[in-house]
Order: sequence, then C-alpha cells, then structure tokens
Amino acid sequence: MSSSQNQGRVAVITGASSGIGAATARALAADGYRVALLARRLDRIEALAAELGNGAIAVPADVTDRDAVVAAAQRVQDELGGADVLVNNAGVMLLGPFSSEQRQDYRAMVEANLLGAITTTEVFLDQLKDGGSDLINISSVAGRTARAGNGVYAATKWGLNGWSESLRQELLPDVRVTLIEPGVVDTELPTHITHEATRQGVQQAYDVAPVKAEEIAEVIAFALARPRHLAINEILLRPADQLG
Ligand code: NDP
Repeated sequence: MSSSQNQGRVAVITGASSGIGAATARALAADGYRVALLARRLDRIEALAAELGNGAIAVPADVTDRDAVVAAAQRVQDELGGADVLVNNAGVMLLGPFSSEQRQDYRAMVEANLLGAITTTEVFLDQLKDGGSDLINISSVAGRTARAGNGVYAATKWGLNGWSESLRQELLPDVRVTLIEPGVVDTELPTHITHEATRQGVQQAYDVAPVKAEEIAEVIAFALARPRHLAINEILLRPADQLG
C-alpha cells in the first residue's frame, strides 16, 4: 500500500518508547499512518512523536493500568479520530530459574505481556470494529517453544497465541488479526532481567543479535499493506542461525 493510501489511517502502538515498538512507529509513519505512541517513558515517546510529525501523539500509558488505557483511547478518539491499527507490543522478558524469588517478575510479565494486550484490545475494540482494521500481536518464538528458564515468559506468549487465534475467528472479516513471533532481536529487552546470572547469559546472545528491530517493523508494515481480502495470520521469524 502506498503511503498516500494510508493518509488519515491511525496506528496505535504500545511499547513505542524503544525497540520493536519504536521501529514499528517509524515504519508505519513512513507509510503514511498517523501514529499514537503509548509507553510509560514519556520523554522517549514525546521525542519520537516530534521526530515523526504528521499528527503523531505521545500518550503516557502503562498497559497494566486500565484507567490509563481508557484515557489513552479517549485521546486517540478525540485527537486522531480513532484507531485503524492496534499493535500490542508492550512487554517484558524477566527470565530466570523458576523460584519464589522471581514471583514479582512472573506477575509483571503476565500483567504486561498478556493481560496488558487483552486490556488494550478490549478498550480499543469499538474503534477497531468501526471499519476495516488490523490487530497485530507481538508474540515470540517463545510462544511456539519453551525451554528451561523461560517458563512464565513462554506462558504469556503461548497465551497470546491462543487468544489471538480465537480473536481472529471472532473478529473476521472486520478486524484482521496477525501474530508476529520473532526470535532474538537486538533491543534493550534483556537489560531488564532481574536474575543477574540469567541476564548476563542472555545479554551475550543479544550482544551479537543480527536481526534489528527495523527488520521486524518492515515485516509488520508488509502484513498491514496487504489488500483487505488477504490476511497474514502468523509470522514466525528468527535469525537464520537461531536453533530453538
Ligand atoms: P524493549 O524493551 O525495547 O521494548 C519493550 C517496550 O514495552 C518498551 O517500549 C516499554 O516501554 C514497553 N513496556 C513494558 N512494560 C510496559 C507497560 N507495563 N506498559 C506500557 N509499556 C510497557 O524490547 P523489544 O522491543 O524487544 O520488545 C517488544 C516486544 O517484542 C515485547 O512484547 C517482547 O516480548 C517481544 N519480543 C522481543 C524479542 C527480542 O528478542 N527483542 C523477541 C520476541 C518477542 P516503557 O518502559 O517506556 O513503558
């Protein structure tokens, strides 16, 4: 779809302050979308909105706080006329061995990755149903596989996958639902891991990650640009040398 065909279309992106979310905002803005950037770090999304222009707005919102998401949706309605695309990207990956010491991390991952996406979609659903629109859920390879040390993170992504397939059937053809499942992508994601030994190990893999957030954003933009009669439901993508 050319950028002129997207003029007036509005994309809401959660977790737009860094990584895949920020890159997706840049890609969709380049394709002509007006973007609403949601995240907790207001300075970052304000700077990105100023960089993008074309009606981009920065909306501080913690996806675990339904009132904040409702306020964000109201701003999107009032200032941009409603959402045509929602990208549920906000997430945390707080890996570590399964133990009670990590229990706060488990709750944080379920609340942001899974409940946050569900809540944001539930709040924006009326705007999305108001014409041909798209829901993009950022899952992970961890939504298709599981390994020692990533159990609750994998549980949130497996949960996203099941919920997405159910929604796909429920919302078609008005809302196309697309699940994106990246492997290792070079972002700040592992820097937030609280279990020190795990963080160091995971960081080593990320230090050499060949796939950039911009490459995931290109794939998202490609899926969105397909004609309305074609829905790309699921994309699993890894660095070419990633085994599991
Ligand atoms: P980043 O850490 O760069 O981005 C995560 C984003 O989520 C940030 O913008 C952060 O913003 C936001 N976020 C986290 N918690 C909340 C919250 N409670 N409310 C609102 N926003 C929140 O990592 P990535 O770009 O890599 O991650 C984006 C998504 O991609 C995640 O869902 C992740 O699981 C997924 N993914 C990443 C992979 C990778 O290898 N990088 C691989 C597979 C999937 P702020 O802190 O400002 O709120």
